[in-house]
Order: sequence, then C-alpha cells, then structure tokens
Amino acid sequence: MPAHALDEDGVSLYVHLPFCVRKCRYCDFNSYAWTGQDLERHVEALLVEARARAAELRPQTVFFGGGTPSFLPAPLLARLLAELDAITGFRGSAREVTLEANPESFDAARAAACIDGGVTRVSIGVQSLRADVLAAYDRVHDAATARRAFEHARAVGFKRVNCDLIFAFPGQDPQAWREDLLEVISWKPEHLSCYELTYEPGTALTKLRDAGRWEGEESQRCQELFAMTAELCAEHGYGAYEVSAFARTGEASLHNLAYWRSLEWVGIGAGAASWRGGERRRNLERPELYEQALARNEDPIDELEQPSATTNLFEALMMGLRLREEGVLHSRLLRLTGLDATSACAPQWQMLHEEGMLETIRHGESRRTRVTPLGLRFLDDVLVRLAPDRLEV
Ligand code: SF4
Repeated sequence: MPAHALDEDGVSLYVHLPFCVRKCRYCDFNSYAWTGQDLERHVEALLVEARARAAELRPQTVFFGGGTPSFLPAPLLARLLAELDAITGFRGSAREVTLEANPESFDAARAAACIDGGVTRVSIGVQSLRADVLAAYDRVHDAATARRAFEHARAVGFKRVNCDLIFAFPGQDPQAWREDLLEVISWKPEHLSCYELTYEPGTALTKLRDAGRWEGEESQRCQELFAMTAELCAEHGYGAYEVSAFARTGEASLHNLAYWRSLEWVGIGAGAASWRGGERRRNLERPELYEQALARNEDPIDELEQPSATTNLFEALMMGLRLREEGVLHSRLLRLTGLDATSACAPQWQMLHEEGMLETIRHGESRRTRVTPLGLRFLDDVLVRLAPDRLEV
C-alpha cells in the first residue's frame, strides 16, 4: 500500500482525554484544568464506552487527543492502552497510533509506556521556544522541557514525531519565529504542524483582545509569517500537504488524512465527535457528566444528527480543500453524498475556477479539485461561497 493509502471503507478511532495542568489562553478544545479529578475513574469510563461502541472495531488509525493524554500517569496510560487494545484490537489493525503529549508531562516513564503500549507516533505541543510567548499563552513548560520531551521520544525509539508550533504572536519578530522554527527543524521531527494563532469565541485570549488588553496580529503580517514558514519547511524537506501540516516524504498524519478525506471514525471520551453510517454524534462535554452517564450504564451521547446530502457535501469540501496537493476527489464526494460537486455547487464552483481560486485536475477517469495558491490565501472566503445556503440543491 502506498504510504498515504487508507482503506476508504476503514474506520478510525479517536480517544479524548480532557485534563490538562491548566487551560492555555488560546485554547477552545474541550479541556479542563486538573483540580484533583479521579483519573482512574475517568479511564474506567472511557473503557466502558469503548466496550459499548468500539468492541472489535479494528481501526485503521488511532489518535489520543485532548486535553493532554500524556497527563495520565505512566501506569494508567499503560492500562488504558492495553485494555483498549483488548477491546478494539488496534495493535493488530492500526497503521498509525498517535498520542498527543505536552512537554511538562512527557517524561521517560510515559514515553516508555506509550511505545510499549502500541503508540507509534507522538505529537508534542511545543508551540514556542520563547519564554515570553509561552508565558503569554499560559503554557506550563519552557523551551528546555520541550527539548527534553523530544529526546524522551527518540530515546525510547519513536520514529515518528510531530511538533506543534504556533505563529503570529502579536508583534512577533519574524527573525524570532524563524529561529524557533529552525531550532525545531534541527531536532529532525518527521512532521511539523504550524498553526496561526487564532481567536476562538470564549477563550481567555479573545476576551483579553475584546477588552483591548491584547492586540491581534494584522492579517498581512500573518500571511507573511505563513509564507516564511512554508518556505523554510520546504527548504528543509517538509512538504506542505495541508494548510498547517508539513511532512517529510511518507510522514503525513494518516489519522488526520482520514478526517480530511471524510472517512469514518468513532470518537470516545468526553465531548468526542463521531462520523459513521451517515450519522454525526457528539458526546456529553463535561467529564463529570460523561462519567456519570456511563456509571448509570447510559450512552453518554449529547447530539445525534443525520446531516443532509448538501451539508455532507459542504463538510467534505471544507475538510478536503485543506489538502493542498490532493484536494477533493470527485468520485469520493459522489460516494459520500450522492451529489456531483460540479453541478451541486454551480455557479460558485465555476466562478471560483474562473477567478483562479480552484483548479480541477483530471487523471484518466478520475477528477480532483484543489485550491490554487491564491485560493489557499483566501480559503475561508472560498468555503463561505460554497456553504450550503449558497448551494443550489
Ligand atoms: S494543553 Fe492543549 S488542550 Fe490543554 S489547555 Fe493547552 S492547548 Fe488546550
């Protein structure tokens, strides 16, 4: 199978661990500062849900996200991995098992528990190597701790490591960002995720900005920093395969590719989303409500919907157009939604092609559409113009 091949009928597994040392200022994930919650009880709840919803799932990829999965003590991590394997059979089926780790908690014992338990890829939340930037984000770690976490990953034998970084800190000196990025590149991770700092509704950072106590970065400067990031990554052998993701050859994240290709996944854990059999579901978000539901032998479901074909088409475009080279495969869209994007999205589809935002490439019978470099700069606008209320179905 080629490196990026995934079984179109395969299913992925997402496992959510919601606790962190504290809440970072920019974070809008379903995560909570740990204030003494019983982690063993939480893991037990996860396993109860896995037995009910993921028995014999045999996922093609697995992702432990959060929150901070590496916040679990090493013995608990080991137990979670072993029992989840016994339930789902992931060690025999998954081509990739990623665990998100934060520098302050990813020590030698946890790194060993992960690799022994079947994790094949670690994603480290480095974010920045600058003390002032880390402090402004309210991150717990410093640069030395991030370096050590990376070394722990290598020392136990991880061959696939991603580092997450954030750029566009207000007034960020491009030279400082360049130095951060070059240092992380010098560690030789297989994958880099470089995110622009965003202001999501309700985060501490957004409140500070709205109160005039934090200045957002101008969009022109963000574009320049992004261009510099892509250039540096390319110079050092990291191909840009998604808006924020850069990888050495064959090192793209398979689990994220499954999302971007709109393949199916089962999500377990507080607030976890799933997409399977034409249904989208989301679990109860609050960890204590999630645990209580499972303790009562109830499904911890919060929402279930069967989106219309048009909504599914938009979702698939929204995810697939993030893939810069690959884009969206028309035959996959048709299989997923029963709709032909060319006619369902006309005339927007045609206009976006005429404006040079989208391009469609043919290989024999197969057609794929992707954003051009211009379309990438205005991706949000492109997606707004393809939104369901603008579609002609
Ligand atoms: S460590 Fe990650 S999940 Fe936790 S609060 Fe910070 S950004 Fe959010």
